[in-house]
Amino acid sequence: MVTSPAPDTRDAIVVGAGFAGLYAVHVLRDDLGLDVLAFDAAGDVGGTWYWNRYPGARVDIESVHYSYSFDDDLQQEWHWSERFCAQPEILRYLEHVAERFDLRRSIRFRTRITSLTWDDAASLWTATTATGEAHRARYVISGAGTLSVPKKPEFPGIEDFAGEVYSTGHWPHEEVSFAGKRVGIVGVGSSGIQAISEIAKTAGHLTVLQRTPNYATPIGNHPTDPAQEAAEKAGYAAIRAASRNHFLGVPYSDAQPSALAVTPEERRRVFDDRWDRGGFRLFIDSFGDILFDRAANDTVAGYIRDRIHERVDDPAVADLLAPEGYPYGTKRPPLETDYYEAYNRPTVSLVDVRANPIDAVTPRGVRLADGTEHEFDILVLATGFDACTGPLLAMGVTGRDGLRLADHWADGPRTYLGLMASGFPNLFMITGPQSPSVLYNMPLAIEDHIDFTADALRHLRATGRDVVEPTAEAEDEWVAHTEELARATLLPDSPTSWYMGRNVPGKPRRVLVYLGGAPAYRARCDEVVARGYEGFRLSAGSDHPADDTADDTADHTADRTADRAVAQA
Ligand code: NAP
Repeated sequence: MVTSPAPDTRDAIVVGAGFAGLYAVHVLRDDLGLDVLAFDAAGDVGGTWYWNRYPGARVDIESVHYSYSFDDDLQQEWHWSERFCAQPEILRYLEHVAERFDLRRSIRFRTRITSLTWDDAASLWTATTATGEAHRARYVISGAGTLSVPKKPEFPGIEDFAGEVYSTGHWPHEEVSFAGKRVGIVGVGSSGIQAISEIAKTAGHLTVLQRTPNYATPIGNHPTDPAQEAAEKAGYAAIRAASRNHFLGVPYSDAQPSALAVTPEERRRVFDDRWDRGGFRLFIDSFGDILFDRAANDTVAGYIRDRIHERVDDPAVADLLAPEGYPYGTKRPPLETDYYEAYNRPTVSLVDVRANPIDAVTPRGVRLADGTEHEFDILVLATGFDACTGPLLAMGVTGRDGLRLADHWADGPRTYLGLMASGFPNLFMITGPQSPSVLYNMPLAIEDHIDFTADALRHLRATGRDVVEPTAEAEDEWVAHTEELARATLLPDSPTSWYMGRNVPGKPRRVLVYLGGAPAYRARCDEVVARGYEGFRLSAGSDHPADDTADDTADHTADRTADRAVAQA
């Protein structure tokens, strides 16, 4: 590693102290021996799980899978109390990880990075904080997240609302009481659906303002079964390997090729089985063509509509809740517990704000386009996030030759492998746009990206270089590849999906995720490394880019594989 040219200059800055930031600090500081400082706007570790503490917040990939795999002692010793744990327990886990690996001493909390600027002459990034402090570093590893910048409220008058306003993505630490209150909630995505199921239990009256109904299916949560836990811990290495070889990063293996190749009776049997087993099994472990073939998708969409009608007493309410006109899975499928039953309570009502949109928030409540006013004491916004690109753009990134990331991405994200962008050397975007990220089990996606980054830094060090950046050609090809993959799916058919940037007014309508699945993605990353960091330019300081020699590439890949084998043994 090149010697730091100034005392305030470090080897690496890490942004964020969630799953990504914590693991990045651990690997860079403790494995690579780098001088690392991390920043997080929050008061403590947790990232997503620090901010999203709304009632009902819960993971929807089984906790035994949605957890770090890098340390076998950790995964053996940690006990999850439920199949799908709630936010407080996941936060406790991340606090435990921070404690166990002594990570907090390398993190500055309550510190937001507001600009990141590349100095080409020095080959350094300068990070400026909201309070005006500057920090310099050779490398920046962004663990700023994918769903961490809440969408701005689109309702005029919201600042004049006389009651309380809460956003699911930025929930207060103090308990919010809904007892006896008139509560309005906007949004029926994963956050809204989890919150509605919980708030409905205590609110005086809950009014759900729904624009696009969602295909929610049962999560199937239950307390951890000790025998199952023992079996999983005994077989953790195989479970992690199977997860990494699955599209979604979970060890499911029961998908049949096509919903159209079986009889209606067999199809129904499979749907019932996956519905009962919960999690993402209906979506990802029933039939392989659901996300690719509209006729296949229609079979499962019809099935879910029927199940909604079975659960909701009032047929008119069930009609409003049952999605029509867009394919299942093209908006991220929410998982639920007793969500549809909430609408059978006399204290819950559903208002269709697609036919009659929200016009404004008034001091008393929400006024709709036809002039109807709904009065509330509490208004909850579960209106989603500026996904994938939002967290990176919010950091005000300026790269080589004054190139702003906002300009580079004016027509949508442009990355190579969803990890780096051309013109932005040494900036690693963990689970960045056009990587599998949100379509992969996040902790594993994060570990894969940080391991790739750490290997790249080792390789630079071993070859006497310290700058890595994708070529424009490699980036062009990756962008074209991710878009081609998306066109082969039904995703472009969803009118409002955040996967396609369609939830934020004015945001470019481009696919934000890599749809080839985690195994194909990882194979491509391994190939890139094996070919001497194909598509990347590696250089020393501000020298002209040098050709990579790939001399020790194989050694580093072997090291990483060995490290993981040890961790999982
Ligand atoms: P979301 O899926 O984007 O849902 C936002 C909701 O707000 C949608 O129903 C949307 O309606 C509605 N909305 C937005 N603007 C509106 C407006 N102006 N008027 C009326 N309705 C409006 O956001 P989210 O629920 O926060 O979830 C985002 C992602 O976070 C999820 O997809 C998931 O990946 C992750 N998440 C995961 C979990 C978990 O269980 N692990 C829990 C929560 C969130 P339209 O559809 O019509 O735009």
